[in-house]
Amino acid sequence: MQIPFCDIKFQYEQCKDKIDAAVAQVMESGYYINGPQVRELEEKLADYVGVKECVGVANGTDAILVALMALDIKAGDIVVTTPFTFIATAEVISLIGAKPAFVDIDPNTYNICPDALQTYLDSSKDRSKIKAIIAVDLYGQCADYERISKIAKDNGLTLVEDGAQAFGAEYKGTKACSFGDIATTSFFPAKPFGCAGDGGAVFVNDEKLALKVRQIKDHGQSKRYCHTLIGINGRLDTVQAAVMLAKFDHFKDCEIALRQNVATKYSSSLLDLAHSQKVKLPYVENFNSSVWAQYSIQLLAAQREEAQEALKAKGIPTAVHYPIPLSLQECFAYLGYKEGDFPVAEAVANRIMSLPMHPYLSDEQINYICVTLKEVL
Ligand SMILES: *Cc1c(COP(=O)(O)O)cnc(C)c1O
Repeated sequence: MQIPFCDIKFQYEQCKDKIDAAVAQVMESGYYINGPQVRELEEKLADYVGVKECVGVANGTDAILVALMALDIKAGDIVVTTPFTFIATAEVISLIGAKPAFVDIDPNTYNICPDALQTYLDSSKDRSKIKAIIAVDLYGQCADYERISKIAKDNGLTLVEDGAQAFGAEYKGTKACSFGDIATTSFFPAKPFGCAGDGGAVFVNDEKLALKVRQIKDHGQSKRYCHTLIGINGRLDTVQAAVMLAKFDHFKDCEIALRQNVATKYSSSLLDLAHSQKVKLPYVENFNSSVWAQYSIQLLAAQREEAQEALKAKGIPTAVHYPIPLSLQECFAYLGYKEGDFPVAEAVANRIMSLPMHPYLSDEQINYICVTLKEVL
């Protein structure tokens, strides 16, 4: 049996007629930049997430970049984040000349650890330079926003939610991408809510901040050829907005539940491996509802590469999100971190492995993956 890791083509086929018609309509209209679909999508998503404004942008990386620019984060500032995330989260901090600072993660959720965050703030020698926190909703589960928001507020810091993996998730009954002063997401095809190329969005309640985001993602224009702010070309394409609009109902009404179903089946089938300490299963807080961007397990007693090879030979692709903590990436060598600085993130990075994950994995496929994994381990 050959299993796809993330069957985006099958996801397209579920809404093919609607998507094809929507794309054709954009093509016919000739309105390829800032078409009416962009605004329509923004309104729909803001409504769904429960914030005042959504601004479509070119991708999830630009979403964070534009958010930091709108918050006036600048050269010399420090922005605190997790070392266990996709590079984009921290890359944009450096890109605007600010400095990323990492704090370790929670050993169960793998999200930024509020205690580690507090300890860092209490002990930092550069306290006055610290301006913001970026929390990431890893694998589709929200970070602990009640605690993190309180820490941000008590310390006078702005909070950004990087919800690239969590659009559609909930934290204590509130939708992901609504936390902090500003939140961002990505519509990269392999994310839970993906488009047919690159796309992203910024979510914000403050209307002045929303206007700033809107201008920055469009060359800082307040009106045509009037450049009030330094900005970028970071607009969401009309075609991508049309694709997202065509998919949205199906995503929210079907695919979120299907993803959760797949995860539940994985976890019950793999329970014995967890009991025998061979793997650590994903842990979702009881107040969280994950959208399962990834189903990632820790291999506690096996060599990961060997296990991946053996699974691959049986038609089961796996992936590692992420093999190297950002603190140990070459591009961040200038920050001066060393091995041992973030023991939890480093241990998890060594052992984590993602299994195939998409809404349409069948019971038979899940069963095959779990049986094979047990043989391999
Ligand atoms: C995917 C991702 C991004 C970047 O999104 P792009 O659309 O690929 O630019 C940022 N942060 C996290 C946590 C991600 O997973």
